[in-house]
Amino acid sequence: MRPGGDAVCWFAVRGFPLTDKIDPGLEPHKAQRAALVVCGVVQGVGFRPFIYRLAMEEGLAGFVGNHTGGVTIEIEGPPERVAAFVARLHREQPPLARIDSVAVRELPLVGDAGFRIAASEVLGPVSTGIPADAATCPDCLRELLDPNDRRYLYPFLNCTNCGPRFTITRRIPYDRPQTSMAKFPMCPECQQEYNDPLNRRFHAQPNACRVCGPQVWLVAADGAEIASDDAVEDCIDRLIAGQIVAIKGIGGFHLSVDATNEAAVMRLRERKHRYGKPLAVMVRDLEAARAVCTLNAAEEALLSTPARPIVLAARREGCGIAEGVAPGIPWLGVYLPYAPLQHLLFADRRAHALVMTSANLSEEPIAIDNEEALARLGGIADAFLMHDREILQRCDDSVAAAVDGVPQLVRRARGFVPLGVPLPFDAPPLLAVGGHLKNVFALARGRFAYQSQHLGDLENLTGLEFFRESLDHLMRTFEIEPQTVVHDLHPGYLSTTWAKERALERGLPLIAVQHHHAHVAGCMAEHGLEGPVIGLALDGTGYGTDGKIWGGEVLIARLEGCKRFAHLDYVPMPGGEAAIKEPSRMAFASLRTAGFDLESAASLAGLTAEEVRVLDRMMERDVNAPLTSSLGRLFDAVAAVVLNRRVVDYEAQAAIELEGVAMDEADEEPGYAMKFMGGDWTAREPVRISCVPLWHGLVEDLRACVSKATIAARFHSGVAAGFVQAAVMARAATGISQVALSGGCMHNRRLARLLRVKLEAVEFEVFQHLQVSPGDGGLSYGQVAVAAAMLNRSKSAGKLD
Ligand SMILES: [Zn+2]
Ligand SMILES: [Zn+2]
Repeated sequence: MRPGGDAVCWFAVRGFPLTDKIDPGLEPHKAQRAALVVCGVVQGVGFRPFIYRLAMEEGLAGFVGNHTGGVTIEIEGPPERVAAFVARLHREQPPLARIDSVAVRELPLVGDAGFRIAASEVLGPVSTGIPADAATCPDCLRELLDPNDRRYLYPFLNCTNCGPRFTITRRIPYDRPQTSMAKFPMCPECQQEYNDPLNRRFHAQPNACRVCGPQVWLVAADGAEIASDDAVEDCIDRLIAGQIVAIKGIGGFHLSVDATNEAAVMRLRERKHRYGKPLAVMVRDLEAARAVCTLNAAEEALLSTPARPIVLAARREGCGIAEGVAPGIPWLGVYLPYAPLQHLLFADRRAHALVMTSANLSEEPIAIDNEEALARLGGIADAFLMHDREILQRCDDSVAAAVDGVPQLVRRARGFVPLGVPLPFDAPPLLAVGGHLKNVFALARGRFAYQSQHLGDLENLTGLEFFRESLDHLMRTFEIEPQTVVHDLHPGYLSTTWAKERALERGLPLIAVQHHHAHVAGCMAEHGLEGPVIGLALDGTGYGTDGKIWGGEVLIARLEGCKRFAHLDYVPMPGGEAAIKEPSRMAFASLRTAGFDLESAASLAGLTAEEVRVLDRMMERDVNAPLTSSLGRLFDAVAAVVLNRRVVDYEAQAAIELEGVAMDEADEEPGYAMKFMGGDWTAREPVRISCVPLWHGLVEDLRACVSKATIAARFHSGVAAGFVQAAVMARAATGISQVALSGGCMHNRRLARLLRVKLEAVEFEVFQHLQVSPGDGGLSYGQVAVAAAMLNRSKSAGKLD
């Protein structure tokens, strides 16, 4: 369901139903004692001091302590005070806390003298999860910029409401000795804050100050330390002068340049060998963000959440950001500082906007270690701003967008990981290894799936090493020993090979889940739907049950299985993988399939006679020309014809540019037509959605010199209308009127909006992803949902026997 269009409530998305009422059996007495068991994200986020303060204010006696998976509270006092306490517990919880459930029961009176915070030992062994990293809170920011505060301009201040968590923790329990703060013994003043239940820094594990905590320094490209009175000031000087500085952050190094300096941006691109992919831009605050982008309420809320994701928002004309930051795209990935060190870069108001892009080469994991950074980035950065707080978990910045006012995660990493995503039912201990590109795995147990951070592409050993490293860490963190391994159906994925080896080695059962089924199941699980639903899985690449490459799918899905109702008609991909990197190949193949002659198809695709001869032969002889029903490839083909985008520099570039060119264009209804062929639901023969009329309409417009923007708009409208029509056919055949939207194409905000509007106009109930990415980053969550549903069903079937 649509979450009211309110981005703030996104982060308050709770688990499934709460039990938060005082047992009605409780009789009013003079005094009452209640035990509360609070589960959720309640450890390492200042929850116990919050409870302590609440009990003090309500004049209640008792205690609070951590227990496995949550917090136990016992309170004793007048019934109305106890009730007020429970109500305030929900209303006033600390900013980083997330209450999933509160169980309350009455106890006999004890008559304790006051309220205390119980040591962990009292309640037995504690299994604390690790909270996510959180942006500097307003209180800390005030101290950072207050010349009278003892932490004035100290780049590592934090408190229980903010600071690094996941990225500095080696293993559980989340306590200072298990973090990279272990090597910094606290000074007496810090220790006193840490020990005081009424202090904002009570048990703030990364607590530090200039006297006792981490320090920054500047290093030249050759590794020599640069003597400087103020390394941060020196760093700003260099950035303003156009240098590239590698800056150590929370989840890894960033490469930074002045985002208003065209030449500096181009130099960064050249040195990084990254020419097309947009670069993220950090600005001082919300006001500065409004100056470079036009922001709606949902986007502003997203920018301001403690997770501080990069937010995709429309770039303002003449905003001063260099064109080279996001070439060919009318929006920017913009975000706000989330670490004190980053706030300091903007504090003297010389820097307006800084490129802050992950410090890596192409899709390698982000660099985290000082030595590693020097070795890997020596040829890119002119200088390094380093510090001595070790990063123990690599974690890229998260990326989010507002789709028609509803927040959507494009990449789920820093600020979200390792927060659990709720499941609608209990899952046995599972490991789902995800897909291939933009890999994210998931561990599941009970009511939660724990997704890893974005790991990048699993194409080589570096990627696989990061996968192993992160898996070990997350298994330790949550003490989950998977009993089943779940993987994608694709036999060639590195993740599939790894899953099979792992299962063999440990004697574990394997479950393979079809790619688009996993996408749709993820969306269903997020909304607690068991199905059947109509699933629109609109995607780039996924291995189908017929061995072909799927991606424009209308599925009738339950969690534990699905059937294919309709799909985009197959088109060959001449050259296989090469057709993904060269959209002109897809254009040629699509046009030929649509009946255009060799010459017209070649010229529309921008290919020479020689080039098309090879492609035509591949298609004709069916050699290295796998068939695909992918919507992503259709976008590529159209972008190649309309925008002359022949080759792409990064994944989905063609589709992104096609969305971009239509951005300011009104909806063009009805758009290009699609045709429906075949299909017999009872005989399980899927409907084929043909793009032949679409191509003819498009080419006609192109020849009539209709603008690119209008053509792109008509294309989006036509595609949306085609899939809505397919959903209507599916409803007629099955009676199902709930639609789950998923797949990488749902990152296309125009398409996502059009689908929702058109589906709702014909009275479908529409569901889309909220907490996990609709793209391959969300795949492992869907794999968990499918596998858990299958295992639960076979278990209950076993019971019946
Ligand atoms: Zn703080
Ligand atoms: Zn200190």
